[in-house]
Amino acid sequence: IYILAIESSCDDTSAAVLMNDKVLSNVVATQAIHKEYGGVVPELASRAHQQNIVPVVDQAIARANIDKKQLSAIAFTRGPGLMGSLLVGTSFAKSLSLGLQIPLIEVNHMKAHVLAHFINDDSMKPPKFPFLALTISGGHTQIVQVNDFFDMKIIGQTLDDAVGEAFDKSAKILGLPYPGGPLIDKYAATGNSHKFEFPIPKVKELDFSFSGLKTSILYFIQKQTKIDPHFIENNLEDICASIQYTIITILMKKLKKAVKLTGIKEIAIGGGVSANSGIRKALMDTQTTYGWKTYVPKFEYCTDNAAMIGIVGYYKYKNEVFAQQDVTAKARYLIS
Ligand code: ATP
Ligand code: FE
Repeated sequence: IYILAIESSCDDTSAAVLMNDKVLSNVVATQAIHKEYGGVVPELASRAHQQNIVPVVDQAIARANIDKKQLSAIAFTRGPGLMGSLLVGTSFAKSLSLGLQIPLIEVNHMKAHVLAHFINDDSMKPPKFPFLALTISGGHTQIVQVNDFFDMKIIGQTLDDAVGEAFDKSAKILGLPYPGGPLIDKYAATGNSHKFEFPIPKVKELDFSFSGLKTSILYFIQKQTKIDPHFIENNLEDICASIQYTIITILMKKLKKAVKLTGIKEIAIGGGVSANSGIRKALMDTQTTYGWKTYVPKFEYCTDNAAMIGIVGYYKYKNEVFAQQDVTAKARYLIS
């Protein structure tokens, strides 16, 4: 089975070709334009997708070294995401499926972040059902109980900002360019995570809140720069390490609670923020401290990519779950 997968939910245009559960190619065109604006501008994202989609798909097929005619189906991200962005991938997938006379498969982007672990890759091994998936990305923060490929339930989520937003907004306060998450990660590596302390919010059950953190960082920085105008540059590593430590503490606290409540000790992380080295390390450490079995996807399958859309496509294809030509993009699209 050869699946062509297309992802265009936010600001990355991506196409991948899978042969069964193996990735033959995974091309990602990141849109640099948003850097100038300090965040994703929907209108520009949509336009960039329109420019990128044909070359990205062509490249994915070329790199996979197959002919279009060999494709068994087209999988695409139906949602959630930015409507203008989703429409580009959706329309493209629909017309290609019509042109090639092959089935169309619609994929939920958040499910794809969870199921990315099932990509057949020598450097990864899939979690066993049931497992808990912590999906941390630019728009979401969720703990999902995954009973089977298509049986999953959100058991906790953020009430306000997503973890990725917490990283990006904190970075913005520090004057770092968008997206700031990877930069906080980089500076945190050489900083003292206990130098500054930020409050851990009290939120019910398995839910999260990150908007308070952003506010307390803002006040803290405003106060300190009044005393020392060079406070940020003189303490950048320590500030980043302390912010990252706080975020990790919040995440681990809820994960511990989720394990206690469900009795499930198979833990998989996914989504763009799972590229964070501090989070990866904290999770790996739980294998010895708590006896959890943890799963961290390869970097390229953490941030938005079409390979993860393709793996969902492959399992849907096997179960003959296809979409019709009248399928529409969904900006809000719940996981279950
Ligand atoms: P969603 O999947 O919820 O629709 P998205 O697709 O925009 O959101 P992803 O591409 O999955 O999000 O993740 C992007 C986010 O990951 C950004 O907020 C970015 O700052 C963050 N991120 C990426 N790498 C790192 C890192 N090393 N440390 C912290 N954050 C990171
Ligand atoms: Fe994503």
